[in-house]
Amino acid sequence: MQILIVEDDRGITSFLEKGLRAEGYATEVASTPPEARAALDGAERADLVLLDLGLPGGDGVDVLRWMRSHGHTLPVIILTARSEVAHKVEGLNAGANDYVTKPFSFDELLARVRAVLRTAEQPSSSEIVVGDLRLDLLTKVAWRAGQRIELAPREWALLELFMRHPHQVLSRAQILSSVWDYSFETGSNVVDVYVGYLRRKLNTPGLEPLLVTVRGAGYRFVDDARGRAASG
Ligand code: CA
Repeated sequence: MQILIVEDDRGITSFLEKGLRAEGYATEVASTPPEARAALDGAERADLVLLDLGLPGGDGVDVLRWMRSHGHTLPVIILTARSEVAHKVEGLNAGANDYVTKPFSFDELLARVRAVLRTAEQPSSSEIVVGDLRLDLLTKVAWRAGQRIELAPREWALLELFMRHPHQVLSRAQILSSVWDYSFETGSNVVDVYVGYLRRKLNTPGLEPLLVTVRGAGYRFVDDARGRAASG
């Protein structure tokens, strides 16, 4: 694991390098925005960035915006003396994963580094796969048997709910409360309408239907013939 430290204060840099190396991380240091950009585009691929905001000749938030607009998706923890809420919000909006205010304890920083790396490593956080259907949670695109399927936001939310509960019967009330955030309204057929939209998009000719109606109970997402037969 390689950590890029973007910081101009030599005292803090050496404190971080010493501590992180003792914990088994490799470190690289950049002390200005151009050095940071060069390090990120360089051969050594960092797994995480610790980013100071007040840098000579530029602002760390601009480095972060540059990263996010140039496809650098690695996690970033902002390190700064600015404790004002507005700065935290600006940093998080620009794509930071976490925020640590100076002065900080090394133990707290280390715990945050580990937490952020743990989240970034989970493959399940970026996609859900059930049968021949795959949801890419980062790009919000669904794929079935290699075919790309474009979904509207509600259709996406509905499909994600079904895929997170495969083979489970979901009642209309459960679906309404999780996808539409409504409490149950009798007479609303919005769930049936959207299940219809999803079926039309998912059921390409030659492929098995995935969303089955369970009479009097709701709907079930199935990815095998046995599940379809059992639902009737
Ligand atoms: Ca600084």
